[in-house]
Amino acid sequence: MTLSALWYPTDKCFIDGQWQAALNGDTLPIEDPSTGLEIGRIARGRAADVDAAVHAASAARNSDWARLPAFERGRLLAHMGRLVLTHVDALAEIEAADVGKPLKQARADAVALARYLEFYGGAADKIHGETIPYLDGYTVYTLREPHGVTGHIVPWNYPMQIIGRSVGAALAMGNTCVLKPAEEACLTALAFAAIADEAGFPKGVINVVPGLGEEAGAALSEHPGIHHISFTGSVPVGQLIQAAAAKNVVPVTLELGGKSPQLVFDDADLDAALPFLVNAGIQNAGQTCSASSRLLVHRNIHDQLLDRLSERYRALRVGPAIDDLDVGPLISGAQKNIVNAFLAQGADLETAAQGRVADNAPGAGHYLAPTLLAGVSPDHSLARDEIFGPVQVVIPFDDEEQAISIANSTDFGLVASVWTNSGGRQMRAAKAIRAGQVFINNYGAGGGVELPFGGIGKSGHGREKGFEALYGFSTLKTVAALHG
Ligand code: NAD
Repeated sequence: MTLSALWYPTDKCFIDGQWQAALNGDTLPIEDPSTGLEIGRIARGRAADVDAAVHAASAARNSDWARLPAFERGRLLAHMGRLVLTHVDALAEIEAADVGKPLKQARADAVALARYLEFYGGAADKIHGETIPYLDGYTVYTLREPHGVTGHIVPWNYPMQIIGRSVGAALAMGNTCVLKPAEEACLTALAFAAIADEAGFPKGVINVVPGLGEEAGAALSEHPGIHHISFTGSVPVGQLIQAAAAKNVVPVTLELGGKSPQLVFDDADLDAALPFLVNAGIQNAGQTCSASSRLLVHRNIHDQLLDRLSERYRALRVGPAIDDLDVGPLISGAQKNIVNAFLAQGADLETAAQGRVADNAPGAGHYLAPTLLAGVSPDHSLARDEIFGPVQVVIPFDDEEQAISIANSTDFGLVASVWTNSGGRQMRAAKAIRAGQVFINNYGAGGGVELPFGGIGKSGHGREKGFEALYGFSTLKTVAALHG
């Protein structure tokens, strides 16, 4: 594939600075979700390819990379960030074809990738140890050191952003990386390797092995040469990853699913809230870990707000990624079946409104009309389980206490938002809601690479993004010198 001035093969692994076919020569098809057509093939990496990648990363760990001053690592990351910016349009087109993301959203992901590289480039030399006052005759200090080889297993929904935040932070701390992208969306991960190569990263520092989760992914999570695993994906696979990490006794960061609520009180500015309430549910066709799939609405404004939400839903247009409408297709036929199965469970619920699939949308694409469901009880499966599609449920509440209790009633705790003009309520709710991020009178805060992100409960543990990620991708050594 040609990416602006950059060429890279889509059917290879990137190991030790070389493009290599999977050792057994196998490949897997890749599909454009907008058309349902095969658009190419990727390498089907397996355990032997993962092993080669881990060995390359281990060797690179003991190479010049280990001696590179932190500011030089940072400079390299920032340089790569600038290169990504020169390739934004091409990256967006590739992601649109591979993931079905409307072009504007794909472009935003490419810009975010550059931003992560710039941010972690700037942060690389700003993480310090400490000196600790101790007994007379001692000098004690701490050193922040890389784990060694870090494994990164990422999903298909935001490949560029998730690679940026996880691999970017790991590299900033001086780790070397093996990346296993999702089989449904490998192309920008391979482009990431090509741009890293162009930027001048030493061979073996960044390795990419495409392949199936149960083959390449499992092999990576179980590999004894991996010293930290960062996993973003579903709860059941997260549980497997944590078990594999436990066997090797290595730390793991789990970024899993969510069922994130927005609480709309009767003193909220509804004009300001309205676009956020809907966009947070339908962005990326609802295939977003931090999608807001539950709208908790005070009964005093319920009917009025439902009318306005419905009006917005009816205006939503769904179509091919290149047409850049509000919503693109789902990633696959399998994902569409999952979402339809959820909708079937809600057959008795009131469908308040739906968006519209454009007439020109190819029949074999995986399109689904965004759906707003009303009158949903908080214990209904549609109000508790992650659907991962463009479906939002509206749940009425009577007072603040009930709103918080419903917000906290799922197994997840990723993000939440509170819409109210009462300062006291803003503070009380922000404290009481169980989530890794709480937004007040907004949703998502524009995605900020600076803002630590992660969940509690079944949404996972550990934090990525911001400086916090740099602590996760490093380990602390205490040095105590007795000098009398
Ligand atoms: P998934 O768990 O099926 O796959 C994620 C990755 O794990 C893929 O690379 C896949 O190949 C790999 N994998 C699958 N089986 C594996 C195994 N046995 N061993 C090792 N690796 C394996 O998830 P998905 O369907 O790609 O993504 C959707 C899920 O990801 C949703 O639950 C969503 O909420 C979550 N997600 C979370 C965040 C976050 O930051 N919290 C971000 C994006 C997506």
